[in-house]
Amino acid sequence: MQNPYAPYPVTIDEIIVETEDKSLKTFKFVFRDPLDGERFSHIAGQFAELSIPGQGEIPIGIASSPTEKGFVKFTVFKSGKVTSHLHAMEKGDTMGIRGPLGNGFPWERLHGKNLLIVGGGFAFTTLRASIKMMLEPENRGNYGRIDVVYGARSPGMLLYKEELAEWERRDDINMHITVDGTDDPDWKYHTGFVPTVTEETAPPADDDTFAIVCGPPVMIKFTQPVLDKLGYRHENIIMSLENRMKCGIGMCGHCNTGSKLVCWDGPVFTLAELNGIPREY
Ligand SMILES: Cc1cc2nc3c(=O)[nH]c(=O)nc-3n(C[C@H](O)[C@H](O)[C@H](O)COP(=O)(O)OP(=O)(O)OC[C@H]3O[C@@H](n4cnc5c(N)ncnc54)[C@H](O)[C@@H]3O)c2cc1C
Repeated sequence: MQNPYAPYPVTIDEIIVETEDKSLKTFKFVFRDPLDGERFSHIAGQFAELSIPGQGEIPIGIASSPTEKGFVKFTVFKSGKVTSHLHAMEKGDTMGIRGPLGNGFPWERLHGKNLLIVGGGFAFTTLRASIKMMLEPENRGNYGRIDVVYGARSPGMLLYKEELAEWERRDDINMHITVDGTDDPDWKYHTGFVPTVTEETAPPADDDTFAIVCGPPVMIKFTQPVLDKLGYRHENIIMSLENRMKCGIGMCGHCNTGSKLVCWDGPVFTLAELNGIPREY
């Protein structure tokens, strides 16, 4: 049996600076043993522990789609000790990845449903994995209408700019990209906060329409009443939590909230489930 605490050795294959302030970078890792790459089989919405010897381990959502084979990607905000160290690393450097961990989005329940995806800031990473997966020709027929509301502070802070432009051009996904504000005269998308744009563009709520919401607490706080107003049932609103966690496998209790262990029972929950536990997120 594989030791759940043992990371897979990986090499940094590519580093993409995503934002103009360089605070967000996407790291593409390849597994040093290709067999580990096959063992690391994830579903969109899961996370992994990135492990840097001598520095520590941090939970990060998996930004690559399960349909992208041979590598795994993470988009990391430079916030403290471990993330700063990672940002200073270079192509060819080695480290470890432990996972995949957590439950991921409930794809069986979402089969055949319409999806409203609402994302803000760097919480868009697992949503990118989800969109990429759903838009693959072999998967697109498994879902109904797809609407995406994605916002960042300014155009330069948007992630995955080339893919956003590509998805904009498609007619099987409705993209509603927004920024809090900009003085760029060429900006051709929305201006305004994510909850406002959600209210303006969201498809009507019915039993076959689910919302997946990932973003900073303030975005979630103001998006929830909008979804309530639009009539989305709390069973059909899906969220991913980012509580502090350590082991990632439900053993240490570090991420306990109410009766749930966020790393093991989550990080993905419906709003109906979250209503029953303390709002510590
Ligand atoms: C399931 C999950 C998925 C995540 N996905 C991503 C992702 O895709 N990209 C990404 O950049 N980050 C993500 N995070 C947050 C990431 O784990 C933290 O930013 C990271 O652990 C900080 O490590 P550090 O050593 O650099 O910072 P530290 O030196 O430990 O702390 C620096 C600052 O970050 C704050 N911080 C630390 N951990 C967290 C946390 N879990 N939530 C909120 N604030 C925190 C601290 O309070 C402090 O202000 C995720 C967290 C979880 C639990």
